[in-house]
Amino acid sequence: MGKLIDGKMVAAKVKKEAAADVEALKRQGIQTTLAVILVGDDPASQVYVRNKRKDCEEIGIKSLEYRLSEQTTQEELLKLVRELNERPDVNGILCQLPLPKHLNEAEVINAISPLKDVDAFHPANVGKIMIGAYDFLPCTPAGVMELLRQYGVSAEGKRCVVIGRSNIVGKPMAMLLLHDNGTVTICHSRTKELAEICRQADILVAAVGKAKFVTADMVKEDAVVIDVGMNRNEAGKLCGDVDFEAVEPKASLITPVPGGVGPMTRAVLMKNTVKAAKIQNVAK
Ligand code: NAP
Repeated sequence: MGKLIDGKMVAAKVKKEAAADVEALKRQGIQTTLAVILVGDDPASQVYVRNKRKDCEEIGIKSLEYRLSEQTTQEELLKLVRELNERPDVNGILCQLPLPKHLNEAEVINAISPLKDVDAFHPANVGKIMIGAYDFLPCTPAGVMELLRQYGVSAEGKRCVVIGRSNIVGKPMAMLLLHDNGTVTICHSRTKELAEICRQADILVAAVGKAKFVTADMVKEDAVVIDVGMNRNEAGKLCGDVDFEAVEPKASLITPVPGGVGPMTRAVLMKNTVKAAKIQNVAK
């Protein structure tokens, strides 16, 4: 199937490059290190954290895990973040979201040093993305851009439609497509005539969080369709936001779920961590 975008293959390439950089840093006596904080025992978050550890092991990054109880207070969490900010051996800090309801996520994100913010969620990094002068890009949208690049798809002059406007996916995704000279429309739950807008897209990115949300009638013939969604269907199977079977015949390129955007998100986190190590060591 020539039209399937192979996220696993591209992610392997990105990780291989990151591994080479980790190795080069090791030769300079620098051990790239990522600190991951997990508060509570949300099952999905546990899987994400486990995968991050595996990725670190695979490419030679040292991973430090901080598993805090559900009852952790905001002050305790902030104290840990500040300690990690101060530690010269820690290059990247990531606090797995969502946090338990009693904790203030924005305050925790703001507390992470922008130089160690490998998720690129800190307002300083978000602002840098806006002006196109960034150190880190958020993992999922950056992963999508890398997939497009590897498959020879430029957004230049194209109509791009992003469904979803979250801070971690939809908004930065739209911004990166804009930086790549696309003409970008962002859709959300209040958008009127959504199907009609989507039908105009040369590049359609779905980041909604609803299985089979994008149906064949919403897709233009030969469009590039990127499915960011990670949902469970009735049978408990992982699926995206796109009705894959119905949409695939119309698309020129399409990402599967699993095996599309997901592996890229993980790979870009590794790349960002290595970049953090480089930036911090140049700054010394
Ligand atoms: P989110 O914060 O829940 O945002 C969902 C967006 O979809 C919102 O902007 C919402 O609009 C919009 N939306 C919801 N219903 C809609 C409708 N009926 N019509 C149009 N727009 C609608 O989710 P997220 O964090 O961006 O994640 C989106 C999906 O991507 C989820 O499935 C998530 O699991 C997945 N994800 C995957 C990866 C990966 O690595 N593959 C990474 C991150 C997220 P409003 O703003 O108006 O509410």
